[in-house]
Amino acid sequence: EVGLRRQLIDVHEAATQYFEAALKAPEAARAREYLTGRGVTVETIAKFRIGYAPDDFNHMREQLAKHFTDEVLRASGLFSAKEQSDGGQGQLYARFRKRITFPIANEQGKTIAFTARALDAEDEKGRPIAKYLNSPETPLYSKGQVLFNLDKAKAEIRANDFALLVEGQMDCISVFMAGVHNVIATSGTAFTEMQIRLLGRFTKNVIVNFDPDAAGAMAAEKSIGLLIEEGFVVKVVTLEGGLDPDRFIREQGITKYQTFGYYATSLRAAIRHSDFLIDRARHLFPGRTSDAKVKAINFLLPHIRRMPNRIQRDEFAADAAQK
Ligand code: ATP
Ligand code: MN
Ligand code: MN
Ligand code: MN
Repeated sequence: EVGLRRQLIDVHEAATQYFEAALKAPEAARAREYLTGRGVTVETIAKFRIGYAPDDFNHMREQLAKHFTDEVLRASGLFSAKEQSDGGQGQLYARFRKRITFPIANEQGKTIAFTARALDAEDEKGRPIAKYLNSPETPLYSKGQVLFNLDKAKAEIRANDFALLVEGQMDCISVFMAGVHNVIATSGTAFTEMQIRLLGRFTKNVIVNFDPDAAGAMAAEKSIGLLIEEGFVVKVVTLEGGLDPDRFIREQGITKYQTFGYYATSLRAAIRHSDFLIDRARHLFPGRTSDAKVKAINFLLPHIRRMPNRIQRDEFAADAAQK
């Protein structure tokens, strides 16, 4: 008997191929235009196995049902089930429709889930739709235990002894295709302990390059805290112009990203995480009142305490006090 896990791996490979083929079909013209408009080349599409989930509820299920049992299809997370009033198992329909699909791979490079981007911001009736839709938790996939692109990046992370951490899969893909291969993405979630342990097998140095917006700063702050606790050395890059890495590379060019963000094996403009946090404290609690100072110090203290090394802790505290 073939185990469920193995079957789930196989069904994800079949789905990856299905979406890849669908992106080449005539009906996917808009999807291809969308990708071209974002500077995603045919080479990138092939490398990351980017695909398209057609605007169809049943076709993929009909195709996959030729090779996989209903049990496997249900467990895969690729489908949703219609609600049954009697609580029974409802008919399956495609979870991802009219979306660009990005396979999420395990460390061995096998697809174990998908994230899928909507082509439009609203549906036909003008209602907003979620920009990204992910596979649910399945026996194969747990969101907090996977790092996007780790399969392709791990050798370079080890060789360079650092990882560049970005938020989005499009950021990750753009940076990777621009030639920086030690890049991974958290996929918009806060970094988890499991992900940090996963990464820790390859390096203890991380450069965080999250979106320069409020959400990105908060996610960076949270991730920094966890990384420091686990003994990582962390630096932070904040790109100018409010651009995420993907847009920065597209609008300002890879050379500028390399100068500003990444150069050879070190990020020139990367600052120590302590400086990032002190700047953040000053931004969150502006002014010179004692109230602002107290709040800023209260914000920084947990971060200072986290530093595992006495000398660095003292340095951080002295910098914080001075600024
Ligand atoms: P794009 O460039 O395609 O607009 P992005 O990566 O810049 O996407 P952000 O809004 O910066 O998108 O979000 C960062 C990441 O957070 C995304 O790459 C995605 O992994 C995740 N994310 C964003 N929106 C959603 C959503 N509605 N549901 C689930 N995850 C999301
Ligand atoms: Mn963002
Ligand atoms: Mn973004
Ligand atoms: Mn983006």
